[in-house]
Amino acid sequence: MRATTPLRRLAVFVTLSAALLGFACSKQEPPPVADTQPPADSASTGDSATVPLAVDDAWLADESRVDGWAAYGGTHFERRFSPLTDIDVENVGGLRADWYLDLPRDVGLVSTPLVVDGVMYFTGTMNVVRAVDAVSGKLLWEFDPEVGKALAGKRQFGFVHNRGISFYGDKIFAATFDGRLIAIDASSGEQVWSVRTFPEDAALYITGAPKAFKGKVLIGNGGTEGGPNRGFVTAYDAETGEEAWKFWIVPGNPADGFENEAMAMAAETWTGEWWKHGGGGNAWHGFTYDPEFNAVYIGTGNGSPWNRNIRSPGGGDNLFLCSVVALDADTGEYRWHYQTVPGETWDYNSNMDIVLADLKIGDRDVKALMHAPKNGFFYVIDRNTGELVSAEPFADVNWATHVDPESGRPVEVEGARYEDGVFKIVPGPWGAHSWHAMSYNPQTGLVYIPALHMKLGFNDQGIDRETFQSTPFRGGIGARLTWPEDQPRDYPASLLAWDPVTQSKAWEIPQDTFWNAGTLTTAGNLVFQGRADGQFIAYDARTGQQLWSFDAGLGISAPAITYKLNGTQYIALLVGFGGGFSALGGADAASLGWSYRAQTRRLITFSLKGEAAMPPQPPPRVPQPIEADFEVDAELAEAGNQLFNRDSIEGICWACHGMGAIAGGAAPDLRASSVVLDPKAFDRIVRGGALTQAGMPAFADLTDAELEGLRHYVRREAEAALAQ
Ligand code: CA
Repeated sequence: MRATTPLRRLAVFVTLSAALLGFACSKQEPPPVADTQPPADSASTGDSATVPLAVDDAWLADESRVDGWAAYGGTHFERRFSPLTDIDVENVGGLRADWYLDLPRDVGLVSTPLVVDGVMYFTGTMNVVRAVDAVSGKLLWEFDPEVGKALAGKRQFGFVHNRGISFYGDKIFAATFDGRLIAIDASSGEQVWSVRTFPEDAALYITGAPKAFKGKVLIGNGGTEGGPNRGFVTAYDAETGEEAWKFWIVPGNPADGFENEAMAMAAETWTGEWWKHGGGGNAWHGFTYDPEFNAVYIGTGNGSPWNRNIRSPGGGDNLFLCSVVALDADTGEYRWHYQTVPGETWDYNSNMDIVLADLKIGDRDVKALMHAPKNGFFYVIDRNTGELVSAEPFADVNWATHVDPESGRPVEVEGARYEDGVFKIVPGPWGAHSWHAMSYNPQTGLVYIPALHMKLGFNDQGIDRETFQSTPFRGGIGARLTWPEDQPRDYPASLLAWDPVTQSKAWEIPQDTFWNAGTLTTAGNLVFQGRADGQFIAYDARTGQQLWSFDAGLGISAPAITYKLNGTQYIALLVGFGGGFSALGGADAASLGWSYRAQTRRLITFSLKGEAAMPPQPPPRVPQPIEADFEVDAELAEAGNQLFNRDSIEGICWACHGMGAIAGGAAPDLRASSVVLDPKAFDRIVRGGALTQAGMPAFADLTDAELEGLRHYVRREAEAALAQ
């Protein structure tokens, strides 16, 4: 079993992922403003020879439609289910690559492609959006929002990846890492409008897909751990980019007045001077529009900082952290909320997908919302009222005994809040489930969850609760994490089929690799899932029996989609090991062998008639340090170590180049880089920003000695590895 060793360092990874922040180093500013709204280019919008597209809510809510995949979760219901049966349990063994598109400039690929009117749209590394013919794979256009340029000269790290785009009317909506929401003409690939959704110097970022509905586009942001941030979502007019409404997730300083009654109500559940800590709650994922109730459901984030004893020292539920919040789709007004973790203190956010279905539970017809957040419970909620229907653990849970059906609240275990010292909690802060999509198949009645199994120790010993203060871009979680040897299972992840009606497991496939991709399910009784080890697998949705597999030769982090054009059902998948694990996972991620750009990132589409011959990928290769004539100065190297691995703005190298200078694949392994041997070249890149277009920030204010320390540290690690 490789479970224990590879995951050991993830404990550190989690500590430091506290700082999944952004970039620059200045203070927060007042609310964002629209920047550019250039007049629409007539050539791109008016004079097109093609019939204008009109993707509307009826289209986006049509579960029977098979000619495309028009929304992030397939439709407004977010089920990732297709009624297609051309490919089924009987013939899936004959699935072959039909066409592919190499993406040599891309690195991490985690997004869900869309298919509308025969064209596939998808977002890649550095938020580049591409359109390709969905039958031939021919590239039609490419839109580069120049994220590197937008970030140039400013410090940033975090995940320069993106989970998807949205389609409405004749436009695509993409949100960039640096905080812009951009409308793109779907036929020409030209920008129609662009707005800033937060100030340039805010310690926030976007990796999520915007949500389009009823002529509006909604977006939130991440950054709960990046400083004293206060989460919010904003809806914009899809035609013009004008702000339609905004909803703050946690209350601000009462002295400034509350924005609405919901904030006044929420403030009753906070204590102390929480606003000095921002409060958090950032909605970086998990938006669902419900056409039946004209509501938007927002999955909200954890607290900032994690430790409630710091941000709300007198206790309290801290609304609307870790909740599903229902808002009026037209006005953004609060309707109801269901909080999965009152007063959370373990990074148990509720940002995971929110899936809609009508369920027959006993003799009751339930308009249900299904949600499997980090905390390990699977929730069925009445989406009309926000009332809990049922909640049961879908993975190992030791922080609460159960969710009380009357109050809807978890019944916590004594000591879980690490009030008496270390508490070894499961799920750990990675969650029992993260953003990797779950799917729901109404035919089998099952939900397919990429589940995670990890325990971590929490404590806050040695942290001064009175004086602790996170700062923008430096972050801080206000807790310490330790790695317990007694992990819950001898495998770190699984594919879980869950019955939401009986709240019980139908089947489960243990997996040796951590952080596998989201799922797709079809009426052909199939479930598709890609794994971090590069295997793309089809299972019988009823039994979990493996029916087909394809070795992509590179880790898979994105969910598949399906559609039917010209009589052929296609399955499409982006292949490019990515996401937090590839950036921060260090030796554990590196052990998979998907080193930076060694393997070609690809969009692959499969069919039963496919006969594409793809060039083989280079075999998995763990990065090897290069030999060099370099005399390491121990003192300089140790100073460099502090800088490289420190959880602060000066010490963010590890966040892409890996813990211990071992890169997981999202960035080059510096121990294998000749640039480190050349002080001038190193300076040009690290301080001068020569590679900002590739996502490498500029650290202009590092001193000569600090720069030198980094080189010596990297070589120290290189030589240590070479000596082994
Ligand atoms: Ca978090």
